[in-house]
Amino acid sequence: MMTIAIIAHDGKKAEMVQFLNEHQNVLSDKNIKLVSTGTTGEKAKRAGFEVSPYLSGPLGGDAQIASDVAEKKVDMVIFFRDPLAKHPHEPDIFMLMRLCDVYNVPLATNPATAELLLKGL
Ligand code: PGA
Repeated sequence: MMTIAIIAHDGKKAEMVQFLNEHQNVLSDKNIKLVSTGTTGEKAKRAGFEVSPYLSGPLGGDAQIASDVAEKKVDMVIFFRDPLAKHPHEPDIFMLMRLCDVYNVPLATNPATAELLLKGL
């Protein structure tokens, strides 16, 4: 069983849904579990994916996923950040990325990298 966390900032949510749809064959595998931040999860559910959503990012969702990374409950993070927007929860975003590096968890911050990670599964 492998758990993949998916997170997309508002400016990147459409790209995330497109990415999920393009990789539906891999991501619908019964051995893959998806977790997400709140709103990203809602969009993914609407697109037909089974996802366990945490809180919305600005309300602590990124921090919850970071905690899962630290507890080794997440095996990969796909985090489409919007580099052109400001985020009130920037400290949480950096914490999540830092913990991915601390625990050597694969982290993709754009679709090109995410695609390569999924190809490596
Ligand atoms: P959201 O959170 O999926 O609840 O919008 C993402 C984020 O902003 O980190």
